[in-house]
Amino acid sequence: MRIVFKNLRILYGKDLELIRGNIVVEDGIIVEISDKDYKESIDMKNGIAIPSFTNAHTHIVDRICSDKYFYNPIEKIVGRDGFKFKCLSEANYEEKIKAIKECISDMYKYATHVFCDFREEGLQGVLLLKDILKDERFIKPVILGRVNDINETGKLLEIADGLGIPDINFMDLNSLKRLRNICKERNKLFAIHCSETRRELDLCIKLIPDFLIHLTYADDYDLNLIEKYKIPVVICPRANSSYAVGIPRIKELFEITKVAIGTDNVMMNSLNIFREIEYTFKVARALYKDYKFDAKDILKAATINGREILKLKTNEIIEGNIADFIIFRNKCFINDVYLAIIHRYDFSDIKVVVKNDEVIFR
Ligand SMILES: [Zn+2]
Repeated sequence: MRIVFKNLRILYGKDLELIRGNIVVEDGIIVEISDKDYKESIDMKNGIAIPSFTNAHTHIVDRICSDKYFYNPIEKIVGRDGFKFKCLSEANYEEKIKAIKECISDMYKYATHVFCDFREEGLQGVLLLKDILKDERFIKPVILGRVNDINETGKLLEIADGLGIPDINFMDLNSLKRLRNICKERNKLFAIHCSETRRELDLCIKLIPDFLIHLTYADDYDLNLIEKYKIPVVICPRANSSYAVGIPRIKELFEITKVAIGTDNVMMNSLNIFREIEYTFKVARALYKDYKFDAKDILKAATINGREILKLKTNEIIEGNIADFIIFRNKCFINDVYLAIIHRYDFSDIKVVVKNDEVIFR
């Protein structure tokens, strides 16, 4: 199948450089980006093409406990034996399926084609998510399992994409190092929630994880370590705000490492990536009183950076790459496309979604 989208503004390549032109997709591949005149084409009337979104950190089954424990300290909600785990253990299979399906339907809406889930509940937890998403073609889950029983690690890693460690005190450091090595040997991801409620980066860094999540509490020394070891970071500013634990040092993190964005626990926050990018952008500008903090960096963090951190094929819009992008409708008086997407666009402005050889017109 060949389809030509003409008359576009395109956020091109890994730098999301703004160019004008047409995108030709053939059998799921972007075969040409040019300003040639094509006989058969769809006029997008100056719409904006950008790579589809990546939500680099979620816990989607939490949807079951939506807002239930919101007015409690974080330790009581997600700490060891926290309310959330009681809620999950009391939920039945049908409720969990319902929660997952609802989240997947939200991600369709928000054109989030990859998400990385910290799936709790051991081997069974991973099996559940895998099973429900086995026929999913549009949205790719990257599932990082939680080891409930260390002897289960091998089995868990046969089906999961890696391990998601809840915090540095989850096990003693030597056991965590063992898990890290097992992931490395098997070419699996190893990620950890770090410095969400207090400083603990000096310990997390000893594991040399593939990426860190949160970094709400990081001082200059910690930032230097991240830069030195080149560890990517996934930030979740709306979730950190919901938990009332602070805001990561967004601007510095963007300056020193690769940053992606996640929406974290669905019980405390929605999967709406549009809200996340707007919040992250504006809160960073306000905190740093820096009027130069760039919208383009936030868009990269919500699209292609996540793919890179998760070691997936990139979805940047370039010739020869897989087609995995969306097209927003045009609006009047769009003077800066990057700012417009963050300030003024919403999922309801998506006109076309392209993923491999499937094209959906909304
Ligand atoms: Zn999390």
